[in-house]
Amino acid sequence: MIFTGPHAPTPVPDVAFTAFVLGDAGRHAERVALVDVAGETSFSYGELVAGVERVAGALRARGLGRGDVLALLAPNVPQFPVVFHAAASLGATVVVLNPLDTTADLVGHLGGAGAVLLVTTEEQALLRAPELVAGTKVREVVVFGQAPGTTPFTELLDPTPDRTPADGAGAGAGAVSVVEVDAASDVVALLHSSGSTGRPKGVMLTHRNMSANVLQTNGGAPLEEGERVLAVAPFHHAFGLIMVLNASLRQGATVVTMPRFDPQGYLQAIQDHRITRLYVVPTIAVLLARSPLVERYDLSSVRTVISGGAALDPQIARLCEERLGCRVAQGYGLTEGLVSFMQVEGSPAGSVGRATTNIEFKIVDITSGRALGPGLEGEVLVRGPHVMKGYLDAPRATGEVLEGDGFLHTGDLGKVDADGELFLVDRIKELIKYKGQQVSPVELEAVLMTHPNIADAAVIGVPDEEASEIPKAFVVLREPATAQEIMTFVAERVAPYKKIRRVEFIDAIPRTPVGKTERRTLKEREHATQ
Ligand code: AMP
Repeated sequence: MIFTGPHAPTPVPDVAFTAFVLGDAGRHAERVALVDVAGETSFSYGELVAGVERVAGALRARGLGRGDVLALLAPNVPQFPVVFHAAASLGATVVVLNPLDTTADLVGHLGGAGAVLLVTTEEQALLRAPELVAGTKVREVVVFGQAPGTTPFTELLDPTPDRTPADGAGAGAGAVSVVEVDAASDVVALLHSSGSTGRPKGVMLTHRNMSANVLQTNGGAPLEEGERVLAVAPFHHAFGLIMVLNASLRQGATVVTMPRFDPQGYLQAIQDHRITRLYVVPTIAVLLARSPLVERYDLSSVRTVISGGAALDPQIARLCEERLGCRVAQGYGLTEGLVSFMQVEGSPAGSVGRATTNIEFKIVDITSGRALGPGLEGEVLVRGPHVMKGYLDAPRATGEVLEGDGFLHTGDLGKVDADGELFLVDRIKELIKYKGQQVSPVELEAVLMTHPNIADAAVIGVPDEEASEIPKAFVVLREPATAQEIMTFVAERVAPYKKIRRVEFIDAIPRTPVGKTERRTLKEREHATQ
């Protein structure tokens, strides 16, 4: 049985993503499109379009064109979409990278994607630009700010006349000129996700995938005229890049960028910028619902809070609604197929909503693969124009999640009620969500196994109200070591959000006859001891 949502099918325009997002920008050229929380950098929609044009000209002069790859390594800053759309308008692919990742991980992503240009912040460039690009194809590093051996972004934003390419396709007032792309197959964004198993892989999203995602967001949770959105969900993640940034720009909202989350700064930003729409991970919803800090700020401007990235506790949602006097809705999706579900008015508590525009889904029995009807638990599979093209250079991993008929295995266990509302029950894939960020247990196990005193190890996510889940290691020792020593060993080798935060020593890791870790057994053991 295949389910659909409440929205009528909507054609996804066959245009370049930038044309889709910024096509109407000229109509509200004066309105603020982007501003950082400190109010230091801002772009009106007119300036955004002009900035994209100028930066595209400068990138084109550097040889960037259709099929080339530009890497963007930055937190949420107003310049982010200028660079993104400048490259996208030339038909290039933008690989968006997480500034918190280790240098080794980033070098792997840059090299794997074949990036030729890297745009980053002054902080990152000073910290590690030479190490990042060594051995990759990157031929120039552009920075927001200044750093030795790099090009300041301002040079691209305000090119001297002789730098502007003679063939600069005339945009006309208020519109961005774009090269011709094949929207259904040209990849515009490359994000990273570990998917069902293993290490992070490049998720290829085409122009059509991204436009479809924006349509789904805007269909499920439209913004009204003059709304202001606080953007703290990182732009290198699908939630931040698509739902928060581009869906808001497409609707002419003001996006207030916040590079780093801190509770006081966040609440202050809501008050100062009279924010109307918050996109949060459950960790922030918990803050809004429970923290005494909230009482110190005027949050009365907030109309809607949309939570995604991990399961939102219905009680937290209700507390948040009562405290802020706003509506709290939940969305569900994954990097490989974002915004698949969204709660609409009347969705029951605890559901992740109904399928958004153009989505079909089914629930299948995990052993037989048979499609199930309402009320029965199984794996959620989704299909629609938003589903990724595949993982970069990983046909096997792609084949494992993408069926020939277009259905994507989500790796999530759920059931649907008689009204088509989806309830997630559990996760069957090997993925931990720490404060909305992906942590791959397989990656952590590989690090643990390099410790000389460890004979065997397995990692699972254990529930935590604030973080959603925290990574916990079960360790079999061959020589003595303390939990603290093991946690420090891992922390020195992985990004801070991937740290192991709990260790339990165990006699043997439960494994299947073929040697696969029985995570379920460990989860049950964990559950029993809580
Ligand atoms: P990512 O690709 O980083 O967005 O991670 C996707 C995964 O996060 C999904 O497959 C789910 O396991 C989990 N997830 C995302 N949104 C929700 C939600 N609203 N409720 C429960 N889990 C979620």
